Amino acid sequence: MAFFKDEFIDEVKASNDIVDVVSGYVNLKRHGSTFFGNCPFHREKTASFAVAPDKQIFHCFGCGAGGNVISFIMKAENLGFKESVEFLAERAKLEIPHDDYLEESQNELKIKDYHKSKMYEINKEAGRFFYQYIYKSDTAKRYITSRKLNINTIKKFGIGFAPNDNSLYKYLKSKGFKEDDMLATGLVGKSSSGILYDKFKDRLMFPIFDIRGRVVAFGGRTIVSSAEQKEKHIPKYVNSPENLIYKKGNHLYGLNIAKGTGNKLNKILVVEGYMDVVSPHSYGVTNVVASLGTALTQNQGKLLRQYADEVVLSYDSDEAGQNAIMRGIDILQSLNVVCKVLVMEGAKDPDEYVLKFGADKFRDLVDKSITAVEYKIRILKNRFDLKDTTGKIKFMNKMAEILAALPNNIERDIYVQKLSEELGVGKEAIVAEIEKVLFKDKTKQDKIIVSANTPENNSSTEKSDIEESIIYLLTLKNKSIFEKVKKYVLIDDFKDATNKAVLCKLYDAYSNNIMNEVDLTTIFDNEQELSKLTKIMMKENTSNDFEKVTDEVLGFFNKQKNENRKLELLKLMKETTDEELLKLYQSELREIIQQSTNKAL
Ligand SMILES: [Zn+2]
Repeated sequence: MAFFKDEFIDEVKASNDIVDVVSGYVNLKRHGSTFFGNCPFHREKTASFAVAPDKQIFHCFGCGAGGNVISFIMKAENLGFKESVEFLAERAKLEIPHDDYLEESQNELKIKDYHKSKMYEINKEAGRFFYQYIYKSDTAKRYITSRKLNINTIKKFGIGFAPNDNSLYKYLKSKGFKEDDMLATGLVGKSSSGILYDKFKDRLMFPIFDIRGRVVAFGGRTIVSSAEQKEKHIPKYVNSPENLIYKKGNHLYGLNIAKGTGNKLNKILVVEGYMDVVSPHSYGVTNVVASLGTALTQNQGKLLRQYADEVVLSYDSDEAGQNAIMRGIDILQSLNVVCKVLVMEGAKDPDEYVLKFGADKFRDLVDKSITAVEYKIRILKNRFDLKDTTGKIKFMNKMAEILAALPNNIERDIYVQKLSEELGVGKEAIVAEIEKVLFKDKTKQDKIIVSANTPENNSSTEKSDIEESIIYLLTLKNKSIFEKVKKYVLIDDFKDATNKAVLCKLYDAYSNNIMNEVDLTTIFDNEQELSKLTKIMMKENTSNDFEKVTDEVLGFFNKQKNENRKLELLKLMKETTDEELLKLYQSELREIIQQSTNKAL
């Protein structure tokens, strides 16, 4: 991980307050010195996600996720360590020191980075190349006129044209790019006889940018008529393959433009294809992105959450589109994103709609988007025969599930009222159905809790509690506490394997005298250990007299340790036939008994 010097990483952390950063993803509320909110990493209705500003850490008591601001970004943005540091550096407008990379020139990762940077360069050059061609081809010119695409829009999105020869390959070669790098981008292919050729031919080219404005891939749309497409089996779209710099489902087409440079958008529209972004844009509707694929992914959901307060889904109204919306709603809701659905009539997609009715009508339509629940009701109504009693019951059961999942009681009441009127069913009956679902969920939860607290687990829970108290005292970075603890607690005394590993690392940090400088979360690269540490660090201080607390905790620990050893010795004495050993055991036992009666630490 030696991409950056520690000082730079410290600066990045210092410039990105964890409460600030997390607030971009989670609605946090303050309780005492800690902030709480719904965890962005697991689905929940209770706020078990905690952020401690004084310690600059987070911990989820539900799923165990924990760490510092960098680990938070790694999880939330699905980035590696290096990218997360860069992400936060950019957020804080810090300049990223590039010298650090050079020191790592022999490193394998460095080579990969170099390869990646070449791929970005090739894509950028290719984008320029295609863009220059757009006005050279007659077919391309005809196409853009028919779609009413103006020069500004073409320029903004970098829309281009791929000619029907191998001129891109020749162009890239003339720029000095290597064969391997060209092949890696997927813009160039290699025949079995070793000849290189352009993979995109006779296509309108849409560069796909990441949020930093780098071209990561291309989408190519054919411009031949649909009759010819069918006859010659020409696919309507061809896209760059996944590679080192492009992963499908990690990007949103048009987001680099839609997000602008300023504040979070209050609304962002998600559509299916390139033209559904570009057309509204050329009419002045700029808050539109495409998910490029039928359904929204988790990572795309996270991107949306970062840039907008509300997401409006607008996919085709066919069955595939409906299913994509249903999945999209689930994903967005699991990420706590407010989402709505755009219902369109008179056109099959936003591209066609703006062409037909114009931008103002389109904006009106966006404003009239319906809520996710309303959408689900609408779809379910079509799927069940509501004139039939069984159909009605099935519909009600489904509805109860949907309404039970709503976090807000007032919202639930509104739908109950509406449904009751529409179906001619009493409100009480609907509420009873919802309660059934809620009760089922609750017993499921209770069962899990009960199984975790069975009697045989109790003693070990107590043991691990005292172990956690000891770890907590060590996180206070107080050398005299450490000296005391070290005297009484051996690493092997700990029974819980994770506690043991955490204790070992803390002992190391004290022994190496780095305790005062180090951010504790960075000495754990194991997720389980990190989770344990952040959970323990979240504990609120109940006393400020840590010397006294330490004595109490160690006294209790010692007592417990002696009790255990006593039982162990008694068992050993019963089992052994060796006289010598028996004597040793007896004397140790006497010593323990004496110790515990004479002095309690
Ligand atoms: Zn969680």
